Amino acid sequence: MAMNLNQNILESINPATGEKIGAVIVSSKEDVKKAYEKAEKAFETWKEIPLNKRLKLMKKVKRIILETKDEIAELITLETGKPLMESFSSDICASLDALVYYIKNAKKILKKEKIKFYQPFLWGKRAWIEYEPLGPIAVISPWNYPLSLPLATIIPAILAGNTVLFKPSEYTPLVGKKIKDIFDTAGFPEGVLNILYGGAEVGKVLIKTPVKKIFFTGSSSAGKEIMKDCSESLKPFVFELGGKDSMIILKDADLNLTVEGAIFGTLFNCGQTCSSVERIFIEEDISEDFIKRLKSRLEKLEIGNGINENIEIGPLQNLQQYNKVKEHLIDSLDNGAKIVIQMRSHNLNKLFFPPTILTNLRPDTKSMIEETFGPLIRIIPVKNWEEAVRLSNSSKMGLSASIWTKNIPLAKEIAKKLEVGTVWINNVLYSFNAMQCPWGGVKESGIGRVHGKYGLLEAVNPKLICMEKQRKKGEFWWFPYTKDKVEILKKGFDFIFGKGILKRIRLIPAMLKWFIYYK
Ligand code: NAD
Repeated sequence: MAMNLNQNILESINPATGEKIGAVIVSSKEDVKKAYEKAEKAFETWKEIPLNKRLKLMKKVKRIILETKDEIAELITLETGKPLMESFSSDICASLDALVYYIKNAKKILKKEKIKFYQPFLWGKRAWIEYEPLGPIAVISPWNYPLSLPLATIIPAILAGNTVLFKPSEYTPLVGKKIKDIFDTAGFPEGVLNILYGGAEVGKVLIKTPVKKIFFTGSSSAGKEIMKDCSESLKPFVFELGGKDSMIILKDADLNLTVEGAIFGTLFNCGQTCSSVERIFIEEDISEDFIKRLKSRLEKLEIGNGINENIEIGPLQNLQQYNKVKEHLIDSLDNGAKIVIQMRSHNLNKLFFPPTILTNLRPDTKSMIEETFGPLIRIIPVKNWEEAVRLSNSSKMGLSASIWTKNIPLAKEIAKKLEVGTVWINNVLYSFNAMQCPWGGVKESGIGRVHGKYGLLEAVNPKLICMEKQRKKGEFWWFPYTKDKVEILKKGFDFIFGKGILKRIRLIPAMLKWFIYYK
């Protein structure tokens, strides 16, 4: 077990070695209540602090992460088991990118936005949108990207003037604590970022507090439970949930590159990525050649303790995850799937799961329907891309997909037909690290977006303010209603929404009448 909930102590265990690396105290109901009160109090002053001052503090966060990146990356690898290279290339990179992007763009995105009216009835009125913070909000995160996932939400939320109650995963409390320490060192006022430790039970208590919005990243099943809990008070939420992503390979694809992409897309973070390639659809003419090349590439991978820089595949992060992957593999085999190759495992700790290539998969089996989140590489030969698209879209999830071909116009056409939030053509995963790209899914993969301007706008209330100088008389659509007013309104519609210059010119007297009598 990578996590040991002993009374009120939450131990953090290195999944590569089984060694304890630290512990935190589980937050009680009382702690959650107090943290909420602190966040609520801090909000009153934080929302009034000018954005320039908030940006200054956020620049300090960036400096601290940049200066201590080695220490942070090592902690991420110790707590998740992922290779050190991945702690840098995913968590550290995406976090720094989020800081740079929002530091540079927050002002522009949150700027007061003027509204222009085109109806003559509304001439003389002014309106604008002001982006106001929501208040204390909750950020609940998983363990697979314990630094970048919460930060990509916490950074824009705090810059927009919200305060945050952050619950990291029970499997990665120490990286969660590190985030809190960084914000404290940067000098953020007390109560702006608050941390709560524990599992789903703590998350449930947090959702019941009067937080203004829930930003949840995790499994689709937990998302459904949270949605029910939010419905009691109509609490809004953003959900980033599970995936069952497909890779669609056409027969003209560059096979060497595609094999590399397939290995990386399926085994990055040992397959524990929401947008991992979980289904490879390949045109049948080239499937045998592809499998042969994939097999020989797999044999060269380095599996072991990710703290060593050359390691490419680490262990699964926790026992629950290990059991799920095993269950999916057994279910596939019981239903006729064939193992092309299974890598040797590693005896350092029991959580190492051997990467396995599978063929002959039945579409109604667990590993083809549910998210596996592990190192199973499933190859499904198809007659043509149309069949691949049909099978890809048959999933109840829709996070992302990739298309591999030299025929770019066709790839663009296929991209339009895929029911997902992101499509990569001849690559996988990378846009997650570029904060200007929105991130999110459709169907059971999520609701709303994080990253980019869409992510920041999820954390604000776009308040519309309409204004005009005191009128001399009431609007013509106010009481009393008359036949004359109805006529003006009807002609006004033809004038404003109709077509044809001549027709409009004929309506000018009626519009003048409105202007003289009612404006
Ligand atoms: P999980 O759903 O078990 O837990 C995620 C977080 O939610 C944890 O902090 C957990 O304690 C908390 N939680 C669980 N149930 C809760 C409830 N009912 N109320 C309140 N809090 C609750 O997920 P996990 O195993 O930690 O992470 C893996 C999942 O996350 C995968 O399904 C993966 O696809 C998904 N994920 C999605 C994205 C994305 O961007 N779409 C990114 C990373 C991970």
